[in-house]
Amino acid sequence: MTRPEPVLSVVVPMYNEESVLPALASRLRAVLDDLGETYEVVAVDDGSDDGTATALGGLRAGWPHLRVLRLRRNSGHQAALVAGVLRARGRYVVSIDADLQDPPETIVEMLHAARAGDLDVVYGVRADRSTDSRFKRWTAAGYYRLMRRLVGKQVPAQAGDFRLLSRAVVETLRELPEPAPVLRLVVPWLGFPSGEVTYHRHRRAAGRTKYPLSRMAGLAAQSVTSFSAAPLRFATWLGLAGVVVCGLLVVFTVVAWSVGATVDGWPSLYVAILFLGAVQLLCLGLLGEYVGRIYTVVQGRPAYVVATDTATDQDADGHTAASRGVGGPTALADSLR
Ligand code: UDP
Ligand code: MG
Repeated sequence: MTRPEPVLSVVVPMYNEESVLPALASRLRAVLDDLGETYEVVAVDDGSDDGTATALGGLRAGWPHLRVLRLRRNSGHQAALVAGVLRARGRYVVSIDADLQDPPETIVEMLHAARAGDLDVVYGVRADRSTDSRFKRWTAAGYYRLMRRLVGKQVPAQAGDFRLLSRAVVETLRELPEPAPVLRLVVPWLGFPSGEVTYHRHRRAAGRTKYPLSRMAGLAAQSVTSFSAAPLRFATWLGLAGVVVCGLLVVFTVVAWSVGATVDGWPSLYVAILFLGAVQLLCLGLLGEYVGRIYTVVQGRPAYVVATDTATDQDADGHTAASRGVGGPTALADSLR
């Protein structure tokens, strides 16, 4: 690579964000140009099918620091984020949403905090969520409470994916074999020295949310199953409880039979069958969650495929990387992503 690595990379995943792009570009550029550091902006176009790609192409003409990574298909916010972060070249890598809900001005504070405290991770923590809907706040609170129990207290309660990572953290992430790590959990789990910067989360500047309920549920399921076998253990306990209850029912039946009161045994039989059926189905479902994950990992199907990367000015898919002589475990891990 010819260009020296910049001090700062700003990764912006975007899916159909045509309407917000002009505002984003002008605000982000104002902040970054004033910073007095070398930087790159890695816009990850997550397979948008509106005018995002064209708009990015137009912006690039007048903004040489803008690098566009286009994924072949819509792979989801987390995958787009991982794609951008792992390919960013900066000494510090900040990820930020495209919709200006996270103020770009906070990036400056993050960088100062990282340097002043010699920190590897700086989380953007929301001071309040008053601009989010009550439903969003309620589900988010539940999600973070659960995650703090599963992963540990180092998961900040109100931090989304607005955060700064040092090069050391990014390199560690690159070595992980996980195809699509949930960064907001894996990063705290890694245990690097970290700090927080609080900010006010604003309303979406333009366009609509790309996070419907189904995606939120998907993220929650992925988060839980990627960090804990507790649900499986829950199934075991439930199964044990079922066995105990059935044991009691058997005793009851035998006693009833011995005193000759077995005329009408239908209700207890019916309840026992229903109960066992329910427990078995539940356990099968939970097992299926994990088997599904094993299946995905064994398949080794990448979570995204990069179509183009303006930084290399050529096809940035697997065989190009190989022809540039990238090898070893990182390349393997990379090909798994
Ligand atoms: N995003 C993405 N791929 C997707 C969905 C969303 O890259 O499949 C991006 C989106 O463009 C935005 C960020 O992820 O920059 C967060 O999405 P959004 O603002 O819609 O989520 P919300 O803030 O409503 O939770
Ligand atoms: Mg948003």
